[in-house]
Amino acid sequence: MADIFGKIKDGVTKSAATVSANSKAMVKKSKIKAVIEGIEKEQEELIFLLGQRVYEICNETGEINIEDISGFIAQISQRIEHIAEQEEQLRLVDEEVRMAISSVASNVSNNAMCPCGHVNQPVANFCAKCGNQV
Ligand SMILES: [Zn+2]
Repeated sequence: MADIFGKIKDGVTKSAATVSANSKAMVKKSKIKAVIEGIEKEQEELIFLLGQRVYEICNETGEINIEDISGFIAQISQRIEHIAEQEEQLRLVDEEVRMAISSVASNVSNNAMCPCGHVNQPVANFCAKCGNQV
């Protein structure tokens, strides 16, 4: 019976940690996603304006120089960089969640390990192999 309760207790500890880490991550991720959406809107607007500008210049002069549109190119490149940075932040949040969950999981299993190497049930007071207090 103790074994079953031990497993349940570990399961609850792990899943509580998982839920807590995941809900914190969801809040962080939704903030980052909102930032990305904002940058993407700016990027779309810039690309639209760039298209308009290219059309106007070509229509007026019949040719286009890179200097005529370099401002737009720089602004759009900046947005692409900012989006990549935000996506890196998203990746880091996922990484944090994985680390938080695996550290809880390893604490749970470390508690069950006797110095003799035998893995006992986490609620065990004595090692089932050597009788050591764990
Ligand atoms: Zn032992």
